[in-house]
This record gives sequence, structure tokens and C-alpha cells, in this order.
Amino acid sequence: MLIEVPDSHPRAQSLHIREKLINGFDKGLVAKAGLIAHGRGECFDYLIGEKTQSFAEWATEAACAMLLLAKHPVLSLNGNVASLCPDEIVELGKASSTPLEINLFYRTKERENELLKHMKEHGAHEILGVGDDETIQIEELQSKRRIVSKKGIFIADVVFVPLEDGDRTEALVASGKKVITVDLNPLSRTAQKAQITIVDNIVRSVPLMTEKIKGMKNYSVEQLQEICDNFDNQQNLKSALQFILQRLRELS
Ligand code: ATP
Ligand code: MG
Repeated sequence: MLIEVPDSHPRAQSLHIREKLINGFDKGLVAKAGLIAHGRGECFDYLIGEKTQSFAEWATEAACAMLLLAKHPVLSLNGNVASLCPDEIVELGKASSTPLEINLFYRTKERENELLKHMKEHGAHEILGVGDDETIQIEELQSKRRIVSKKGIFIADVVFVPLEDGDRTEALVASGKKVITVDLNPLSRTAQKAQITIVDNIVRSVPLMTEKIKGMKNYSVEQLQEICDNFDNQQNLKSALQFILQRLRELS
């Protein structure tokens, strides 16, 4: 703990989340740019009232239905996700029987190894994309992010890529995969390009996904399909923007 933040502090929750990321940075899990990306997210969290709003609930339901319908789903994680909600992402993997894959924008052997160690400490059994796991390059992707697991993203039909960069999201969509993301900024390219965008903080959205998945386990394929078909990402992103607009009007 770098600083003592009493729970009564108005920004306590936000500062606790920030602390997790700083710890992740100190352990070599988070890249410098990851800290800055978090700041961009914080700004939008402020604007949505730091709560899961109805537009996030709707997208979460659709995301869970899509994961349950998938043949080869994968949960992709980076240093920020691993620092902010490691236990929760492991729990989601278990609840949805979905493998985890580490996929990094700033990929170094050291960061890969630290993330593998960190996720194992948090209860992950198998992690794709690092260590002995066999990888392959996706041509659509530039940079080291094109290295993906043969058993994971390479064959996946549905990929959960929270806090993702727009170029990579575009490439995944172009390669025919269905993309689910969590992104606090409804205007980012990732938010706009993904099939399902959950506009919420990852620390709130992953536990909610697990809870919903557990509740949907007995749904029929038809029910799950209907939830997916009824979801409209553009409409939902508009709702998020309208919510922000309304809130700013009320506050100004
Ligand atoms: P894009 O490349 O999609 O246009 P960007 O370049 O603005 O987005 P990136 O740094 O590439 O931003 O992606 C990180 C995204 O993750 C940002 O949109 C940011 O708002 C979002 N983000 C950061 N922290 C969180 C968090 N804790 N929960 C949810 N989203 C977050
Ligand atoms: Mg970007």
C-alpha cells in the first residue's frame, strides 16, 4: 500500500483500483502505457457515475449468451486485466469453461513470465499464449500482438478482449471472429468495432458476467440465441452516450 486511503474518502474506490494497477506495474505486469490507458478509462468511469448502468447490464447478458453459445471461446487478458481482477477472471473462465490466453501489446519474455506466475498464484491452471504453449502468427495483426495461441485465439470463434486497442479489435473482427469487449470509452475504436461492448469498469463487469453465466447455465440454445439476436451494439453505445450527456446536463 503506497498511501492510506480511508473508505470515507470520496475517491476511495477509484484510488484502490489505481493502487492495484500501480502494484501490477511494480511487479512488471503492466506496461507504462497501461497506466496511461487506465487514466483514460477512469475519466469515462467518472462520467458514467462509477456504477454498472443498464446499458452495461444489457451488453453483459448478450456477452454471456454469446460465450455460452461459442464453440471455441477464449478470454484474452493483458497486464491491466491481470492486475485489476485476476481472481475474478479465473472465476469467469471456470464458470464459462473458457480458457484464458495472455496476449500483450508490449510483449517481453519477462512480462510474459511474470503474468504466467501471477495468474497461477491466483488459481489459473492453464494459460494459453505463453510458456510452453504453441503459438502462431496472425497475418492481419501488426507487431507482437499477432502472436496467438494455436489452441486459443487462432481457432476461436468468440474472443473476449477487454481493454483492447482498436487496431487489434479491427484485425480480430476482420479475421471473422466475434469480439466481446469491456471498454469504458463508448467512442473508442474497440467499442465501436466489437460485436458486443460492455461500457463498464472491468473490476465490476467480470464478476457480473460470472454471476450472469451461472444464472444462464440452464437456458436453451434458442433462448441464448434470442438474447444475442436482440442485442444491438450501436444502439447500446448510443444509450451510454445519452446517459453521459444527460448526467452532464443535470450537473451543469
Ligand atoms: P482504441 O484504440 O480502441 O481507439 P484508445 O487508443 O483510446 O482506444 P487504448 O489504450 O488503445 O485506448 O485502449 C484501452 C481502452 O481501455 C480505453 O478505451 C480505456 O478507456 C479503456 N479502459 C482503461 N481502463 C479500463 C477499465 N478499468 N475498465 C474498462 N475499460 C478501461
Ligand atoms: Mg488504441
